Amino acid sequence: MEIFANHAHVFPEDVREEGSVDNLLRLMDACGIARAVCFAPFRSQVEDAGYTEPNDWLMQKIHDEPRLVGFACINPMDEDAIDRLIMAVGIGLKGCKLHPAFDKFDILDKCAMDFYAAADGLDMPLDFHTGPHWWRIRDYLPIKFDEIAFKHPGLSMVFEHLGGRPFYEDMLAVLGNNLPIGAPGNLYGGIASVLQRDYQKLWYLGIERVAEAIYILGEDMPIYGLDFPYNTVEHIKSDIEQLKTLELSDEAFAKLFGGNLERLIAGPSQASGFTAPGE
Ligand SMILES: [Zn+2]
Repeated sequence: MEIFANHAHVFPEDVREEGSVDNLLRLMDACGIARAVCFAPFRSQVEDAGYTEPNDWLMQKIHDEPRLVGFACINPMDEDAIDRLIMAVGIGLKGCKLHPAFDKFDILDKCAMDFYAAADGLDMPLDFHTGPHWWRIRDYLPIKFDEIAFKHPGLSMVFEHLGGRPFYEDMLAVLGNNLPIGAPGNLYGGIASVLQRDYQKLWYLGIERVAEAIYILGEDMPIYGLDFPYNTVEHIKSDIEQLKTLELSDEAFAKLFGGNLERLIAGPSQASGFTAPGE
């Protein structure tokens, strides 16, 4: 099965050598991964080294690498956030990573809400970190994503780590509340860094909870991700092995390992007009 994986953070070599694009390609070869989505670094991680527009840096770095697709990385609270989002779409980036804990913002702040509205208008998918990450939890309580989904039913969003171990149930609530039943929706769970019990204590879900989430929310929900460079070749091989033990059809495996990611990038679901069962 050809794997198209999400969630690789890449960096200029002089900033973080293990997170370089070359290293990502090596890891993909070692793990049998055909293609991957990579995220631009956070601006605050690289601007001191002279990379003032990391989204542009990423596009220049990968534009002639057919195995890689680029996502921008933007702090929606920055004054130029929406301009940068428009630029990201213009240069061919296919989504945008947001990390409310790293960038320390309230996901329902008015600035952030304006940013989501812009992303919705541009058909730009957003990929959120979810789960405890050493910043005031109130700002990014996973249950608050329901409000964004409610206000922007056409906006595609990925919730990485499914809320992590402490908020798994909340993330299930948000996804279950907003996904159509039995048809592909535009909300996804990022299956990344949730299968290594000793290494990812706050995000570890284990294969049973991943199976349960897919059973409850359907095979159109999960998107497999690497969380490069934080995971090693060994972690990623183990993740893939564990995921292959799931009792899924060949079609469902193909969705988990790239099909759903392709659908995310292709744009919002044509199947609009979600109606709840029993109404
Ligand atoms: Zn990440």
